[in-house]
Amino acid sequence: MMVLDADFIIVGSGLAGSVAAYLLSDQGNVLLLSKALPIESNSFAAQGGIAAAIGPDDGAKLHAKDTLEAGAELCDSEVVAYLTEMAPKLVYWLRDIGVPFDKNSRGEISLGLEGAHSRRRILHAGGDATGRKIMETVTAALENNPRIQRVANVQVLSLIQNQGKRVIGALGQLNQEPFEHIKFYARHAVILATGGIGQLFQRTTNPSGATGDGIALAYHAGASLRDLEFVQFHPTTLDVEGYPAFLISEAVRGAGATLVNHLGEAIMEGYPQGDLEPRDVVARAIYSNLQQGNRVYLDCRAIQDFATKFPTIFEQCILYGINPTENLIPVSPAAHFMMGGIVAEINGKTDVSGLYAIGEVASTGVHGANRLASNSLLECLVMAFALAEHMDFERQNEHNFEEPNLSVPLIPDSQEVLEIVKTVMWEAAGIVRDKHAIKNGLNKLTIVQQHNPYSPAICAARLVLQSALSRQESRGAHFRSDFPKLDPRLDHVFTVVSFELE
Ligand SMILES: Cc1cc2nc3c(=O)[nH]c(=O)nc-3n(C[C@H](O)[C@H](O)[C@H](O)COP(=O)(O)OP(=O)(O)OC[C@H]3O[C@@H](n4cnc5c(N)ncnc54)[C@H](O)[C@@H]3O)c2cc1C
Repeated sequence: MMVLDADFIIVGSGLAGSVAAYLLSDQGNVLLLSKALPIESNSFAAQGGIAAAIGPDDGAKLHAKDTLEAGAELCDSEVVAYLTEMAPKLVYWLRDIGVPFDKNSRGEISLGLEGAHSRRRILHAGGDATGRKIMETVTAALENNPRIQRVANVQVLSLIQNQGKRVIGALGQLNQEPFEHIKFYARHAVILATGGIGQLFQRTTNPSGATGDGIALAYHAGASLRDLEFVQFHPTTLDVEGYPAFLISEAVRGAGATLVNHLGEAIMEGYPQGDLEPRDVVARAIYSNLQQGNRVYLDCRAIQDFATKFPTIFEQCILYGINPTENLIPVSPAAHFMMGGIVAEINGKTDVSGLYAIGEVASTGVHGANRLASNSLLECLVMAFALAEHMDFERQNEHNFEEPNLSVPLIPDSQEVLEIVKTVMWEAAGIVRDKHAIKNGLNKLTIVQQHNPYSPAICAARLVLQSALSRQESRGAHFRSDFPKLDPRLDHVFTVVSFELE
């Protein structure tokens, strides 16, 4: 078996993993692993932008207040304060390494407004291609760095722990010929930056790699996971049979698009904020229409210069035969973002020695029960910087690769297993949940797991269902029709699962 070693092993080359690699390469050599190419990350797909309080009427405290409100009493206010204070410095860092943020006619960075933000504080690059522009810049900055070795198309299947349970490496498998296994040893730390879990659901905006591997890996290594029931469903994704659920950013509604059903009724009429209600409210309104047999559309025909403002969305719609300036766009909700994840400090430190988690896979207390739009790219950046600062001290504690204790490796999921998981999760842990559906889902997964005991997707999906079952209230993105109200006794009460607790 091939064996590689480095000071740091980073699993995942989205924004969190790539920025961490860039920064940590100052402290040692880095192995940057990913099961797909960087283009197939959530980071690359991000449209809306990145939030930072840099406007003259704005400040970190206001940004923090909006974040806490969206999080519905499940955020950690200290962590939110840190994130929002760091935001201006880090978006300027992005600008300085070359991210071409959009500018206004005065040559200043232009700031957009998004739902639940009280100020204009969203930076865009290339209109709705922000994630792509950021990732192209960061990826270019990694190139030709002799201290960073990239290994793409390798799926990490297990974390290697020593007798003291410290994580000292990872076992991966190439997902193309010759499908061989590779052992990666880390002198200082293994960092999970594996992104979200959208691909556990039938409809999702996430690219194919987002199957929750990081959740399964951390769970098997004994790390605590938190608030996995909080999955944000984006209300408006393209709903054309046979095509992926391409995201139509809410910036489109911000620019004047309205949601209508096939009867011509404006479905958000009567809601206080109309079409700009929070994502979970809009998603449930659309879901309810769909349940009644209605089709739901975005009417963008009143938006001036649609193709210039939203070039990526325009291009995609045209590809599917829909011209947004003339036709209604059929939409329905899709799984989009995981608020919960591996319990981690803002510097990525988990409760397992040697193991760090950054970006969407981590649960730091930033997002609570509902993510404020455009805070997640920011969280990737803030965590990567805090991790690098922490490592500057922590890496003094070098360890040996003594007596490695390889946990049982997971086995990559077949398409057949993934399809079953997606169907089960859409029914059991979709936009509206109840005890009966969740238990039914768990039972189905238990049966499939008997034949696929080492499936990462089933492991992650079961943990989401168990968490959804235990939270007997509706809060943020988690809506239980059998407990439709928020229970104030559960403010700041987290849902924690770990291997030991099971
Ligand atoms: C369509 C879309 C639009 C979005 N728009 C915005 C936005 O406008 N603003 C915003 O703030 N957020 C947005 N988000 C959310 C945001 O993009 C993500 O939360 C963020 O990019 C996550 O970054 P990450 O580095 O944690 O993970 P990702 O970018 O998803 O990267 C994960 C990496 O892990 C790798 N990986 C996974 N499992 C394994 C394994 N077992 N072995 C090896 N490698 C593995 C993947 O190949 C990938 O390289 C959007 C998300 C989507 C899907």
